[in-house]
Amino acid sequence: MGVDLKMRIVFQRLSALTRCVFLFLLIPIITARAAQAAEMDLTLRTRDPATGKIVLATEKVDPKHVGVIAVDVWNFHWCKTATMRVDAIVPRMNKALDAARALGMTVMLCPSDVVDNYVGYPQREAIFALPKVAVPTVENVTCPPVPDAGGCACGRERCAVNYGWDGMHPALRIAEADLMPDTQAEVYAICQQRGITHLIYVGFHTQVCLLGKPMGLKAMKSAGLRCVLARDMTDAHPGYDPSRNFTPDLNTEQVVEHFEKYLAPTISFQDELTRMGKWDSSWVVDPVRISPWGTPMRPHLFEEPITVTLAAPLQPDAEIRYTLDGTKPTSGSALYTKPLVFSTSTALRVAAFRGGRAVCLESEGSFARMGPVPSLPDVYIGDLKPVRNVGFGHTYGSAVRYSGNTQPPQKDKSNLGRDLKINRQVYQHGIGVHAPCELIYEVKPDYKRFVALAGADENLVSISNGSNLAKYPSVVFKVFVDGREAAASPVMRILSQAWRFDVEIPDGAKMLGLVVMDAGDGSREDFADWANAGFIVKR
Ligand SMILES: [Zn+2]
Repeated sequence: MGVDLKMRIVFQRLSALTRCVFLFLLIPIITARAAQAAEMDLTLRTRDPATGKIVLATEKVDPKHVGVIAVDVWNFHWCKTATMRVDAIVPRMNKALDAARALGMTVMLCPSDVVDNYVGYPQREAIFALPKVAVPTVENVTCPPVPDAGGCACGRERCAVNYGWDGMHPALRIAEADLMPDTQAEVYAICQQRGITHLIYVGFHTQVCLLGKPMGLKAMKSAGLRCVLARDMTDAHPGYDPSRNFTPDLNTEQVVEHFEKYLAPTISFQDELTRMGKWDSSWVVDPVRISPWGTPMRPHLFEEPITVTLAAPLQPDAEIRYTLDGTKPTSGSALYTKPLVFSTSTALRVAAFRGGRAVCLESEGSFARMGPVPSLPDVYIGDLKPVRNVGFGHTYGSAVRYSGNTQPPQKDKSNLGRDLKINRQVYQHGIGVHAPCELIYEVKPDYKRFVALAGADENLVSISNGSNLAKYPSVVFKVFVDGREAAASPVMRILSQAWRFDVEIPDGAKMLGLVVMDAGDGSREDFADWANAGFIVKR
């Protein structure tokens, strides 16, 4: 028996007076329901194209007629700073999408390039049952060229393009009732079916995928939907040039301004939800942003001193405080007043406070300064026979059954028999391995130094530009002398510079071990090269 039927029977059994009291009691509940379905008063911001002057307008809309489209909230970007900036926005995006769902909006998650990794998700499968609807062209959407700073916000040590992502950000919540459309026609069909008139865009990067993808703002505006950009839940395709005070946040501001002049009004999603009682101003959701944003798992490698900028653009009155000694930043730590210059390897921890209270999540930056490029060795390790040689596989007796497509260490070749390749450079001499791997060599009395260039092998980028895989290689190289760690690299990733080893061998040393480990995140695609590796002898 349905709940409604049960209620009707109970209602019929009540006396007239009791019925009146019952209805009277129901009124507040009915009113509360009506309040929940209240219209939103969107505060839309546009700009005069000629003067840039801000124009504010309000527009009423029922949340049930609003869709929120999250474009390309990926788990990886070829630029490490861009990846971390997505990481920084996901916590507030989760809060906003939860509130949107609670208000009755339709949430659409659109990972475009990697949408096919979501087959079998009900949010994706539901798309294939949508009725086919012809999409009208209501408007030809054009604008002057959108500023694009290039996509890497690491400054001088620029990241290289690859298609390494394989899914949406792991922290982005996917709710049961969400949908995953991928084309203009799919989004249009959803809008028709649900009476959606307004689309709020969140996601990345503002002037590239959010604007131009098939389900992006341009396509849906052209189909006649009222499209709005949430300026506090997006980031522009970034750039960073501290010499002219050009920061990724200034870049986003400029791109948002372009949207406001030529493309679409913007809202502060946080402000809209605050007005609807769905955002609590005491929430701490924004980490302080760091440029360039090296992390322990993807450090920023550099040779010459670097300029590091900190920002909390969504917490404008916050005091940014930092430490360089590994301790937790507090409201009493050093106050950030201007960009920092690092000339040695540095572990940065940063947070932000207002009136002594933390208003930002803590963030960390990892910066590793490389030594000079070492000389070429006199004796290449490829010409020596290791006394121990173990790798990724099951060992039975003393033989390793190498796993999957990995092989024993290869002389002068990558582990899969191709060129040794690190940071777009091919090396003639070295050893190609797969982590975990250890090679131990006997030290001859005249060996004075061990030298090498070490990095993640780059061959997988030559296939579909590293599609879905370039995020995986992450290795740590270590050199042991007689069982003691003598040198180690930071975590090495694909398309980063090779780490430079130049290790003095003490008199009387007997064994030198070359180790490659995974970086604590499993060893998938952990192909690694010891290039130009070997010994410099005493003269
Ligand atoms: Zn970068």
